[in-house]
Amino acid sequence: MLRAVEFARSEQLQVAVRSGAHSIPGFSTCDDGLVIDLSALKGVNVDPDAKTARAQPGLKWAEFDHETQAFGLAVTGGLVSSTGLAGFTLGGGLGWLVRKHGMACDNLLSADLVTADGRLVHASAEENSELFWGLRGGGGNFGVVTSLEYQLHDVGPTVIGGPVFYPGENAAEILRFYRDWAPQLPDELTTFISLLTAPPAPFIPEEWHGKPLIGVISCYAGPLEQGLRAVEPLRSLADPVADLLGPIPYVALQGLVDALYPKGTRAYMKAGYVRELDDHAIETLTRYHQGATSPRSEIHLHHFGGAVARVPEDQSAYGERHAPYILNMLAMDSETEGFQRHIDWAQQLYAEIEPSLTGGSYINFLSAEGEQRVQAAYGPEKFARLQALKDEYDPTNLFQLNQNIPPSK
Ligand SMILES: Cc1cc2nc3c(=O)[nH]c(=O)nc-3n(C[C@H](O)[C@H](O)[C@H](O)COP(=O)(O)OP(=O)(O)OC[C@H]3O[C@@H](n4cnc5c(N)ncnc54)[C@H](O)[C@@H]3O)c2cc1C
Repeated sequence: MLRAVEFARSEQLQVAVRSGAHSIPGFSTCDDGLVIDLSALKGVNVDPDAKTARAQPGLKWAEFDHETQAFGLAVTGGLVSSTGLAGFTLGGGLGWLVRKHGMACDNLLSADLVTADGRLVHASAEENSELFWGLRGGGGNFGVVTSLEYQLHDVGPTVIGGPVFYPGENAAEILRFYRDWAPQLPDELTTFISLLTAPPAPFIPEEWHGKPLIGVISCYAGPLEQGLRAVEPLRSLADPVADLLGPIPYVALQGLVDALYPKGTRAYMKAGYVRELDDHAIETLTRYHQGATSPRSEIHLHHFGGAVARVPEDQSAYGERHAPYILNMLAMDSETEGFQRHIDWAQQLYAEIEPSLTGGSYINFLSAEGEQRVQAAYGPEKFARLQALKDEYDPTNLFQLNQNIPPSK
């Protein structure tokens, strides 16, 4: 790794760093440059007594969870189990356990990285603490991370989870219900809403394939009886198209929606934090849901808060902890041709719903949208602090294929 970084620097090559290869804007690859590919590094050591794990960056969440769940342990991972640990955690990382245990970056105890000047540096709360602050949300700006140490928690192995799908025509009333219901939820319950077109999946009745659906998807990470009671209201919001909510192994829930995001998908994300799920937002969401230009596009509304909001603001670079929801518009298709109209759909939806958003951005859900949107992920104070770190650890911006924090000079 040291040699690779030194070589890239001395040859003045463009550098892409790849772990799980889930970068939506394609930052983890490049032409005529050097791809530092860590995807073969899949070592993981779980310490079941200390409830910690040290992991190499090539692991995907399915692989990591397989090891930690052997001890009934887990940490917040991606909603899709093929996502890589490294990029996900460095950007923040929200998933099924986010309201109970915080973002993935909130559970990072330390990291090793190779910096632009070819040094192997350890960062933790005790050592290089400012760098450690920046790694928790600041993305791949400061070096190549070769090891990540996590705090784990007791989870499952069985949780209450899964989706309940309803007809798309019920979306507005279900979103209004969700607006009133979600704020009172216990931390154990993480949910999100998906506005989608029914895929031709065996668990959806055939007559619904290709039609708009609204799914409410849950994970209750706590006692099963309590979980069943907590999710009960989700079963009777209208006439369900399919109810798949119940006891499920945590690892199965992690992989439940993987099939919707196969390799080779052309994708674009446009996202923001919701300030208020007001009537304007609900009307806009339902209208764009009905008018989706691709049957593979989806709109996700993630309920946030819980443990995330209790982490002190200055503990990490991660930007916005107090919005009630994160909204993610995913334009997707199998075809590249004509894809611009799906991007337009997401961008127009964003423009119309903007008055209900905070203006902040989340780098894991950001496309290549330029410096202003990167700054919006942090706000001016945190951005200045990140820029000072960039000046110290990567003054020539060797690591610039990312949601880039450029050096100040
Ligand atoms: C299908 C899908 C589902 C997703 N679901 C979620 C979700 O539930 N929650 C969420 O928060 N995000 C989600 N994301 C976004 C995801 O977290 C980001 O795309 C993340 O960057 C992916 O990390 P990776 O290691 O898989 O990707 P890569 O493409 O390998 O890396 C992405 C970027 O991360 C940086 N990076 C990666 N590895 C390293 C390293 N070892 N050292 C330094 N920098 C590195 C680099 O800047 C790189 O360009 C999803 C993305 C996809 C495509």
